[in-house]
Amino acid sequence: MDWASTLISQFEDELEDVYEINPPIGWRPLVESLLEYIKWQNKIHKTRVKIYSIEKRHGGLRIVVHHSPASSSSISGEIFGAIHLAETLSCKMCEQCGAPGNFEKLRSADSLILGTYCNEHLPQEKD
Ligand SMILES: [Zn+2]
Repeated sequence: MDWASTLISQFEDELEDVYEINPPIGWRPLVESLLEYIKWQNKIHKTRVKIYSIEKRHGGLRIVVHHSPASSSSISGEIFGAIHLAETLSCKMCEQCGAPGNFEKLRSADSLILGTYCNEHLPQEKD
C-alpha cells in the first residue's frame, strides 16, 4: 500500500472526501502530524472537519479543508491555526528529506523553481 492509501485508511473520516494527496516526500511528517491533530480535534469536539487537498503550491505546503457548517467556528479556528503552522513550517523543511532548509526561488532553463531545500537537495541553477 502506498503512503497516500495508508493515510486514507488511517484517517478515514478526515480524508473521506479527499481530492488530492500529493505533498513532497520530505513534508510527510508534517502532514501526518496535522492529520493526527485534526482527528483528535474532531473526536473531542465532535466536529467533522475534512481535508479536500494536500499538495505543494507556490513552493509551500497547501492544505484545503471543508467542514460541515454546523461545526463551531472556534474549533475551526484552532484547526486553521494548526494548518497555518504546518504550511509555515513547510517553508523551513527540505521538501525532499525533511531536514532544515530554506525557501528558494531558482531559475532553471525557462522556468522558475519555488520550493524549500537543504544544501544537499538544492536544485542546480541554470542560465
Ligand atoms: Zn534535503
